Amino acid sequence: MAAREFDAIVIGAGSVGNPTAYFLAREGLRVLVIDELAASGQGQNKAAIGGVRATHSDPAKIGLCQQSLETFSSWKETTGTDIGWKKGGYCFPAFDENVEATLRRLLPIQKRFRLNIDWCSSAEIAHVVPGINPNGLRGGTYSPDDGQVNPLRAAESFTNEARALGAEYRYREPVTALVMEDHTVTGVRTPEGEYRAPVVVNAAGVHASRICAMAGLDLPILPDSHEGGISAPVQPFLGPLVVDLRPGPEGKTTNFYFGQDADDQIIFCYTPKTPIAGENRTSTYEFMPIIAARLVEVIPRLKHLTIRRVWRGLYPMTPDGSPIVGRAPGVGGLLLGIGMCGQGFMLGPGVGRNLASLAVHGRPLIEPAVFDLLSPARDLYGGKKESLK
Ligand SMILES: Cc1cc2nc3c(=O)[nH]c(=O)nc-3n(C[C@H](O)[C@H](O)[C@H](O)COP(=O)(O)OP(=O)(O)OC[C@H]3O[C@@H](n4cnc5c(N)ncnc54)[C@H](O)[C@@H]3O)c2cc1C
Repeated sequence: MAAREFDAIVIGAGSVGNPTAYFLAREGLRVLVIDELAASGQGQNKAAIGGVRATHSDPAKIGLCQQSLETFSSWKETTGTDIGWKKGGYCFPAFDENVEATLRRLLPIQKRFRLNIDWCSSAEIAHVVPGINPNGLRGGTYSPDDGQVNPLRAAESFTNEARALGAEYRYREPVTALVMEDHTVTGVRTPEGEYRAPVVVNAAGVHASRICAMAGLDLPILPDSHEGGISAPVQPFLGPLVVDLRPGPEGKTTNFYFGQDADDQIIFCYTPKTPIAGENRTSTYEFMPIIAARLVEVIPRLKHLTIRRVWRGLYPMTPDGSPIVGRAPGVGGLLLGIGMCGQGFMLGPGVGRNLASLAVHGRPLIEPAVFDLLSPARDLYGGKKESLK
């Protein structure tokens, strides 16, 4: 059977792939999205708790997430669909001097990028986080323009909107090879057949390295597992997503974060102190007791919560902890939106908008020198490859 022709093929219908398909289709391209799973968002997208902020310290992440915030916050107006956008901000309370110093050090950088973030007194923090434990509270930062989105609804809506613009989705179809002509990718192969396009986007999440290897590229993306959970709904009381940067007293966690989503459920997760490499997604017995203690320590009245569900998902990690976005080095026709680490949901629309612009207009939307900070051609090991082996 002859190969079917498209203007662009996106590998992966996840946090990055769905918005990328939508923005490519909005540019008028005939887009094909291929995913090995049964529906959109079934990779790591559905594991995210939906935090979206521009208040980073890396200029590229700031620029991309500012564009994501624009997309998420105007989505209902643009499409008529509610994806659970809640502009509640982010709050980083400080309970010790180390955390206070870290947060204060970042503020001038964040302000240089005109981000709406400030240091708040302990009384102001207690106002935005009602019921917060006052013991040792020194204040904290608050960025009211950040927010939250429901990742499940977002994946469905990006898919529906991309389809309405003519994009075709094929599920349960793994990409098994790239079609290459003289160091240029011209299509993909799956068990169902061959598809051709002058632009192929690798948005394959934790399996992105396999796609890179099909083009002879060695870009390590390693899965690192994190757990999350969600409660039954409670009376709305909490605006921001709260990030507690202190290491956990149990010695097993670093930071942890939680918020109340647009459906009034408390959603939460933590970062294990020792990264848990691999693709095991079975929930552990220790997650719930550890995070329950941390939640109740920060807001004592959360002890009344009923927990609905927990899960375990994977961060697609890079050696230097930053995403890999841009043209594949030395290979024509291949764009990369990979290695999103713990922020792929919030980066997705910004990455998608910029990759679509790169594909159609030959340049990203944000400042090219800033965009290049995430270049696939950078030294991912910061000169330390040998010591990491
Ligand atoms: C507990 C937890 C909480 C999190 N909270 C947040 C948060 O608050 N905010 C945030 O921004 N991020 C968060 N994240 C991180 C976020 O989930 C990921 O960074 C993001 O989903 C990665 O997006 P992606 O598009 O790269 O991968 P995915 O969303 O996994 O999409 C990749 C897709 O590619 C498909 N695929 C792979 N290989 C192939 C192939 N060969 N052929 C066809 N299809 C293929 C997969 O099936 C998958 O659907 C969290 C993660 C976890 C685990």
